[in-house]
Amino acid sequence: MQEKWHKYLTRSAPRYTSYPSALHFNTAVGPKEYRAALENIGLYEPISIYIHIPFCTQLCWYCGCNMRVENDPERARPYLQAVIAEIKQVGEILRGRGVVSQIHFGGGTPNYFAPKDLRNILDQVEQSIGFTDKSPVCMELDPRLCTSEGIHELAAIGITRMSLGVQDFDPKVQEAINRVQSFEMVEACVSAMREAGVEDVSFDLLYGLPLQNADSFVDSLRKTISLSPERISLFGYAHLPQKILHQRLIRDDDLPSPVARADLAVLADKAFLAAGYQCIGFDHFAKPETAIARAAQEGRLARNFQGFTEDKAKNVIGFGPSAISQIHGLLAQNAKYISDYQQAIGEGQLATQKGVEASSVEQRLGDWIDGLLCRQQADLSDWHEIAAPDDSEWQGLCAQLRRFEADDLIVLAAGQITIRPEARAFSRLIAAVFDPSFAKQRKERSAKAFSRAI
Ligand code: SF4
Repeated sequence: MQEKWHKYLTRSAPRYTSYPSALHFNTAVGPKEYRAALENIGLYEPISIYIHIPFCTQLCWYCGCNMRVENDPERARPYLQAVIAEIKQVGEILRGRGVVSQIHFGGGTPNYFAPKDLRNILDQVEQSIGFTDKSPVCMELDPRLCTSEGIHELAAIGITRMSLGVQDFDPKVQEAINRVQSFEMVEACVSAMREAGVEDVSFDLLYGLPLQNADSFVDSLRKTISLSPERISLFGYAHLPQKILHQRLIRDDDLPSPVARADLAVLADKAFLAAGYQCIGFDHFAKPETAIARAAQEGRLARNFQGFTEDKAKNVIGFGPSAISQIHGLLAQNAKYISDYQQAIGEGQLATQKGVEASSVEQRLGDWIDGLLCRQQADLSDWHEIAAPDDSEWQGLCAQLRRFEADDLIVLAAGQITIRPEARAFSRLIAAVFDPSFAKQRKERSAKAFSRAI
């Protein structure tokens, strides 16, 4: 990594799985607005479905997800009824409108529940909203809760993509994050998936974890490549102990320095490219023959709440606590706490608690942010439609872009901004220039409340 880029390593930026991002959400959006958006979905409009399973059996100290550790499965069971009721409720509003293009189970830990419980949820989606066996069904899995039999059952109920939370293979790092899972355990999961005919296996890895160093990380990368997953997501660990209290269990002194952390990302980039993977967006990799790699090659890569996707649906309907739905310009988020969510659904209400309706200017800014994250490119030639040349915010934005250009992060030419391939890890930081309210919020809150840009 070039030394002149080091000054950017401690800067923060939102993840931009949507724009406006969750930082903009407010209570002006509630059940009424969400219902109206659902009623406006077109008959054949593609929709992507996200189902949140918010339970885990053990707390990983790095976790930033909305989840609850629940060791008594009986206490979690009412949730199954609630999520099934929510799917029914939304299906009654949709009344056949929309075509499901993909279903994604995330968490928490979706395989906290038995395959038969997850099949009941899928059955309800089929009955209330409908999907065909061509719709990919993806599920995030905790290897510690997987058995060979369970993986075969999940494949049998139609889970076509299985995503394993791997993070790192080094036992010392695993102890420092309270997530111990051997290489052999992950290897057995992948073998069972292959035996069950799963052709799309995905790994989640994290860099920037406590006690990670170049040697051990290279070993984790080598082990990852040896298991040959089709896709790899490489996320930077967001250490926000002021906001996420359990992250205080991770010792600050054990974390790699900003430069060492960035070097880990560079090592991963080199290792995966050398192994024949293709870069997807700024933090994913995939084998060139996969659907997501083809989407990237053809300029169709998209970004939604699960990260980069080949899914063509621009609308997402989220089920479960904190799940976000995106319909046309509306972003609507369900109540965060399981109890509030279950109460709303139990009373026959939608559980929407907040959100935002994107203005036409925000939609344009969102297109630029999306272009920078998915294709490392944005076409600014029509900028004058949203800002006057003497607009002070626009002038400030241009000045920042020129600083990025001077530091060789981007190229500005003919109204286009292009992020240099070797600087793609800085994509979120560069995209944040187009997010005026982030700059404002960063001034108002502690910078420590936001995750590192790389
Ligand atoms: S399994 Fe995932 S959601 Fe659960 S605590 Fe660990 S990181 Fe968080």
